[in-house]
Amino acid sequence: MKIQALIRHALKGLCRSPALKPAAWSLSLFLLTAPGCGSAFQNINILSDADEIALGREFSREIEREVKLYTDPEVVRYVDELGQTLARHSTRSNIQYYIKVVDTDEVNAFALPGGFLYVNRGLISIAATESELAGVIGHEIGHVAGRHGAKALTRQLGLEIILGMISGRNPTGVQRVASQLAGVGGILSMLHYSRQAEREADALAVVNLREAGYDPGGVTVFFEKLLKINDREPGALATLFATHPPSRERIENTRKQIAAMPALEGLSTDSERFQRIKTLLPPLKDNPLENKKE
Ligand SMILES: [Zn+2]
Repeated sequence: MKIQALIRHALKGLCRSPALKPAAWSLSLFLLTAPGCGSAFQNINILSDADEIALGREFSREIEREVKLYTDPEVVRYVDELGQTLARHSTRSNIQYYIKVVDTDEVNAFALPGGFLYVNRGLISIAATESELAGVIGHEIGHVAGRHGAKALTRQLGLEIILGMISGRNPTGVQRVASQLAGVGGILSMLHYSRQAEREADALAVVNLREAGYDPGGVTVFFEKLLKINDREPGALATLFATHPPSRERIENTRKQIAAMPALEGLSTDSERFQRIKTLLPPLKDNPLENKKE
């Protein structure tokens, strides 16, 4: 109850923001129908949990055919445990989350419908503290909790096609969609979220971190870092910017949300374990945090 009230409060604040204008929606690549603020918590029951999970599992198979997973057991266990802790404190804790590390320098993270999360090794390397990494994972869990992927796909493809994909029915439609979805790029394009979805995932992440005992300021700090990298070297984080474009507005929103929350003692910003995990990762070939102009 407490969590829901906090999120509702935060979203009410966002909806009043003059920056939240319909023009902003047009960014979306796939013409997602942008819901108005009032509908942010409407329960649009598009897919059952079981159908959504089945769809996510299909996508995860597709993704894992293409990407290389990072297998260092200590790193993998750590990221999974951090993610599971957050998931348990999220607003959608009734489903199983699968959290994996992708073996690439590229700074990115993404969530598929149904709780399949991927965090790139490069993103862990540039997070300075555990709460920054928790912020990113919390944001991805927020997309799952908000059912953003399932909603986006259903709007784009139609429920019939989605159900056909899951059950193997309607092979023509499924084939057509499969050709559009080919590979990681196709799937991520399909999961291009609206700005409204990004705001909701941010608001959920802030509450989620706090409930799980992490400093929610990690969300804001990490966004600031991403923007700084992008200002210095536009295009350096192209994939991440395509799926979850950070913005001054998002930084301000999360900052205001945190400031409006009652103070809570004992939130954790960092851990020795996180710092040890970072030492286990190979150095990035082209570290976006290094200022090449200097
Ligand atoms: Zn996002």
